[in-house]
Amino acid sequence: MAVALAATACLTSCGRQPSSASDGGAGEASPQAATVPAAPDPATTGGFDGARAYKHVAQLVAIGPHSAGSEGIRRAQAYIIEQLKGFGCPVEEQDFHASTPIGNVAMKNILVKIPSANPNIVIYATHYDTKRLDNFVGADDGGSSTGVVLELARSLCARKNAVTIWLAFLDGEEAFNFQWVDPDNTYGSRELAASLALAGTLPRVKAMILADMVGPANLKIKRESNSTPWLTDLVWSTAQRLGYGNVFVNERIAVEDDHLAFLARGVAACDVIAFDDPVTQALWHTTRDTLDKVDPRSLAIIGHVLLESVPALEKKYR
Ligand SMILES: [Zn+2]
Repeated sequence: MAVALAATACLTSCGRQPSSASDGGAGEASPQAATVPAAPDPATTGGFDGARAYKHVAQLVAIGPHSAGSEGIRRAQAYIIEQLKGFGCPVEEQDFHASTPIGNVAMKNILVKIPSANPNIVIYATHYDTKRLDNFVGADDGGSSTGVVLELARSLCARKNAVTIWLAFLDGEEAFNFQWVDPDNTYGSRELAASLALAGTLPRVKAMILADMVGPANLKIKRESNSTPWLTDLVWSTAQRLGYGNVFVNERIAVEDDHLAFLARGVAACDVIAFDDPVTQALWHTTRDTLDKVDPRSLAIIGHVLLESVPALEKKYR
């Protein structure tokens, strides 16, 4: 994703440039910290298991780099699909081709459509591709939110929901070129939104909640300015109610991400992203975005909030 021009000068100038810090991750052995913080007991996070989410991130990282169109992404796709099927989720593969700076690339969105008597749709989304950089595994950027949505799937596919819930694992969020310049980004979300519009399904989509870069310890999630205010309020008030007011803070940041394709078509959307703290900025799109930067406790907080946003949305759209 990219920070919009409204962000601070440092973000604009630092955030889009290759990091000047040393590229220490490439040659290191597994930089996994000796001790991984324990995830909270799932009983305290609405049944969401941060340890399970973390294991998914570890598996995706172990696959290695998986940028759109690469050999690695086929292994990531196989992993995600296998896990979803294991949870009893109905899985659909949306295959498409995208015209990119490196040519025509085959991509795949992986969709779970959990049936409900209520036709109104709520989408929880993540991108699972990693940035096309040598040795880049994207533990936070790509991995963390994908681990969260996989663990969401385990809960949501196993129960009856009072609204139709879709989970979207989006391909091709990352720009092929180093710089984020439209339209070289968000291929998967643009494809999904366009296909829903064409099928006449888009009016049924009442909310799209995107998670991205939610792995680091001491998360601070700012309100994303492009996002729909009422939906942001719903997510933030859910977080507040659960005691995460110190994580979901009221400062603002503008980020370009997969939610924009839905906003552009009039669908309410919200991006849950921890992007601009100095630690994340130093790691972003570098080979130091490794598993040791992901904290199971953060995954548990995000998962808890997303899971508890379901009843609020069910109440609104029942
Ligand atoms: Zn990225």
